[in-house]
Amino acid sequence: MRRVLPAVLAVMMLSSACAAHGPVSKTIEGPLDTVSVVTIYSGGSEKAIADVFDMLEDVDARMTAVDPASELGDIGFDRREVSRDTYELIERAVAFGRDTNGAFDITIRPVTELWGIGTGNERVPAREEIDEALAYVNYRDIELDGANGVKLAREGMKLDLGAVAKGYAADKAAEILRAAGVKSAIIDLGGNIYFLGVKSGGAPWRVGVRNPEAGENGFFCTVELGADTAVVTSGAYERFFESGGVKYHHIIDPATGCPADSGLMSVTIIGKNGCEADALSTACFVLGRERATALLENLGGVEGIFVSDEREVYITPGLEGVFKLTDDRFARADE
Ligand code: ADP
Ligand code: MG
Repeated sequence: MRRVLPAVLAVMMLSSACAAHGPVSKTIEGPLDTVSVVTIYSGGSEKAIADVFDMLEDVDARMTAVDPASELGDIGFDRREVSRDTYELIERAVAFGRDTNGAFDITIRPVTELWGIGTGNERVPAREEIDEALAYVNYRDIELDGANGVKLAREGMKLDLGAVAKGYAADKAAEILRAAGVKSAIIDLGGNIYFLGVKSGGAPWRVGVRNPEAGENGFFCTVELGADTAVVTSGAYERFFESGGVKYHHIIDPATGCPADSGLMSVTIIGKNGCEADALSTACFVLGRERATALLENLGGVEGIFVSDEREVYITPGLEGVFKLTDDRFARADE
């Protein structure tokens, strides 16, 4: 099942533009297997958006795991030299693996391939198959030589940057727009959103976080954001298939090799860096609310919104005062 149109966006923009000439907004579907929308509210030009879209195509071509011809698809037991960008992203992803005690692990690919979620060949693998695939999963076995060379310790290991690529690309998009003189913009890469600058007029950005149970554009809360902020949601509802009345989603717990079952419907991370927020949203979804809260507190500079399977909502302390519940089917559990 391929991700469809913006109806699946996890976070919705509630901020209307008030620029003198109106905003310039452009959409591209395809790169990073999603729908991306860049909206400039002030500064820069349309050319800057075209440059962002070129970058998205480039990141997609190099870092997608689906294509064996991409830089990423080519990484295996034999040492490969990759571009500096790809190398640095792998390096960061390994660090996220360490920070999250392996809940985030870009060597998960042999397991995700078994489940096939998003490929059209979804199935529930046998326990033995999962265990066999898990033998190839360990971010510590990624060998980085400091000179753009990457090697995986065992034949059969494979990388998957799907959980960080969009956040990483959002940061790059922000750099491109800033360099082009853009002062205020929203970069939305399939729900991985980066708010550049402040809203025209200086008011805070306001986002709605998608109700994980609602079909289309329903949101259950709003959050006011400061300048230059990334907002990323990971949820069980984003990509999944059903078999025997059970839903199997696309975020795998490396400890079990199965879709993470930590009692959460969604996790939203708010921070300064899109790549970090993307990695953490995936990791926190795997870790579950208590361990995730401890992780965020430890890291600092990042906030989280957790929705439990029982529609209980938890927020980290930094969101008090800017967070507002807007749907009474959900309840704050931490007040
Ligand atoms: P999305 O890409 O749908 O926004 P995520 O950012 O949470 O969602 O990334 C999920 C993708 O990351 C999966 O489709 C898979 O390719 C990969 N993945 C799944 N589980 C893990 C994990 N535990 N650690 C790292 N990557 C993962
Ligand atoms: Mg992610």
